[in-house]
Amino acid sequence: MEQKKQIIDRFKNARSDAVQELNRLKKEGAKIAGYYCTYTPTEIILAAGAVPLRLCNSSEQYVQEGEVHLPRNLCAIVKSSFGEAVSGKSPYFEAADLVVGETTCDGKKKMYEYLRELKPTHIMQLPQKNTGHEESLLWINEMRRLKSSLEQEFEVDITVAKLKDAIKQKNSQRLAVKEFYENWRAHPGVLMSSEAYSILGNFDYRLDREKALEDLYAMIRHIKSGPPDADVKEYDNSPRILLTGCLLGEKMAGIINIIEKAGGNIVCVETCDWLKGSDGLVNEDMEPFSAIAEKYLQIPCPVMSPNHNRMELAARLIDDYQVDGVIDFVLRACLTYSVETVPLRRLVKDKKHTGYMSLETNLAHSESGQLNTRVSAFIEMLSI
Ligand code: SF4
Repeated sequence: MEQKKQIIDRFKNARSDAVQELNRLKKEGAKIAGYYCTYTPTEIILAAGAVPLRLCNSSEQYVQEGEVHLPRNLCAIVKSSFGEAVSGKSPYFEAADLVVGETTCDGKKKMYEYLRELKPTHIMQLPQKNTGHEESLLWINEMRRLKSSLEQEFEVDITVAKLKDAIKQKNSQRLAVKEFYENWRAHPGVLMSSEAYSILGNFDYRLDREKALEDLYAMIRHIKSGPPDADVKEYDNSPRILLTGCLLGEKMAGIINIIEKAGGNIVCVETCDWLKGSDGLVNEDMEPFSAIAEKYLQIPCPVMSPNHNRMELAARLIDDYQVDGVIDFVLRACLTYSVETVPLRRLVKDKKHTGYMSLETNLAHSESGQLNTRVSAFIEMLSI
């Protein structure tokens, strides 16, 4: 088998490699649909023959650009994503023929209003509650509205057969991701958390999906048969950490490094780019729009009120991964995640008798010293 490092590098380089891939696809006439949120039903984009491209950004450079146009008291993801779009320098945003957004948090909702001035933008009306007949009907109807928009924008027909194919394709990717992290959990000592995150955090940016899946399965085979790596082995007895909270984009790699260096063994990441997005499948036997709507409405995001799903998922993960401590990252000015630190803290500390720490961040480089100190103190406390 190819060296583990070479495969990991291909995932690490996915965002920069996507630029060439986008150029190639555009030359071949492919249509690109940019999106920002895990609620975007990418199956419908695939059924339109288009390429779904995640556009969320978290770089400091674009936060500053965003602050030129938006109030400063918005979360870094919103400012950075908008800053990237408005800069005119982003190969990803520039490549998008259409942007798909959802009425999730207030910051994103308002950002989409301004994105409309830059690109054709389709906004899906996301219900605020993930139970109830009316909410389901609204969301199913939003699937159909997205279909019509894509058909009109890209001049294609989205048939039931194409939708069913796209559902199968996405389900097989979710199953591969699940197989990866289940094997990683079952065979500790082969991959560091930062290496696992490099793979899963960048998976969506590998636009050649077949090659990405091939690499993922090659890595699964390596995990099953690979000899333990001495550096990785060292972490086996360290406190087992569940990482949760806001999607931190490219900054997540830095956060994972801080936790690893402090001696924490991250056994699971419950954010949009890992478990929150890949947990559960779309039912392949149901009418496609109802099936897609059902799956996506169950995403355990704090924009839902109430959001029992996230607490249930956290409780399950704490048990399944034998977690010693939960680190909950909240972006400054993110109200939804900030308010949910209250029930999450109660669940983790009072019901699961597990360590809990919430950390507020602005994703600024200058914060790394303070984050280091707080994470180290937490891991030390768990180690006693
Ligand atoms: S981090 Fe919070 S405020 Fe920012 S986009 Fe996500 S949900 Fe909205």
